[in-house]
Amino acid sequence: MLYIDKNAVKNIRAREAHLKAVKCRLQKKYKNVICNDNDCKVCPTTRYKDDVPAVHEEFLEIILDEDFSEIIIGGNPEELSIMSEMVWDSIVDGFSWDELELYIKVKGKKTKSDDEKEIVDRYKIHHDFFKTVFDYDSWFMNSADSDRYDAYDLAQNLDMNTCVYCNRLYTSTMKSRLKKKVMRPTFDHWVSHAKHPILGLSFYNLIPSCSICNSSVKGFKNFLLSTHYHPYVDKDCGSSFKYSYDYFKSTNIFDIKIIQEFSNVKSFRTTSDLKLKEMFNAHHSELADLIRIKKAYSENYIEKLKDVYSAINLSDMEVYRLAFGTEIDENSFHKRPLSKFKKDILKELKMLDFE
Ligand SMILES: [Zn+2]
Ligand SMILES: [Zn+2]
Repeated sequence: MLYIDKNAVKNIRAREAHLKAVKCRLQKKYKNVICNDNDCKVCPTTRYKDDVPAVHEEFLEIILDEDFSEIIIGGNPEELSIMSEMVWDSIVDGFSWDELELYIKVKGKKTKSDDEKEIVDRYKIHHDFFKTVFDYDSWFMNSADSDRYDAYDLAQNLDMNTCVYCNRLYTSTMKSRLKKKVMRPTFDHWVSHAKHPILGLSFYNLIPSCSICNSSVKGFKNFLLSTHYHPYVDKDCGSSFKYSYDYFKSTNIFDIKIIQEFSNVKSFRTTSDLKLKEMFNAHHSELADLIRIKKAYSENYIEKLKDVYSAINLSDMEVYRLAFGTEIDENSFHKRPLSKFKKDILKELKMLDFE
């Protein structure tokens, strides 16, 4: 997992832009109030909804309060789950997470038991409403080539070129010259969108990631701050473990493994739930290349390359990038896939003596 520095200027700006856009969306949609920014791209494209069910009027009042929406949209990961639980508690009599999980499991079933029907009756109206208020799917995931704020803008502002979870695949954001949408990362809800629909548009709950990590690997696994690393919270989420390998000479087979800091349970859970070991075992050929280079050139490959490029006077870091196609500085790992993996292996091969 790659750490995303909350306090980096780029990320502060991304959060501010996101907060403003979602606030505009809520204020216009439910209060018919527009902001005072003439260039706002959200207010003019948002339609006023005056058909709020009476049962949710009070809840909306609370949500639309400036301070409250500031926390729900822009609050720290520590605050978000607490807020979500508070909202559920206040709106469903006798709320429990087990019941909510049961609701998610049975809501699509054709034939339901009486108990299941009762759960659906109690939860559906609120669950559906929360999803309409924080409309991740129908608003934020906008596929039209319009100019208004959506997932493309957030992706562009965060500018993470590879998946935050695996650093294995490119997740660049790109629009064509005619401003047509071409590609962007997917956004994983760090805490489950199904259980926390009111956190559907919360900035720190939207993690730019590849679709493999987002859907097939992480899926519905329960991530909690007490048990798993969060890319915006845990500074050591990328440095607590190392990629390494075993080589079985008789069968000429590599096995990529992950070495954890002693008794770091959080790191172990995170890497194993993200299936990093399994995923990186798809990269034996990159590993074999590094080992081949080491055999052919010994430890001072970088030094030798520097001599080759001496005319253009490159720094160690630049030679490293040319040689291995990845970044050596941890803060830049996100720019190129496999940066962490290759650096860990090269260190193990003792090829980074200048580091
Ligand atoms: Zn606005
Ligand atoms: Zn990924």
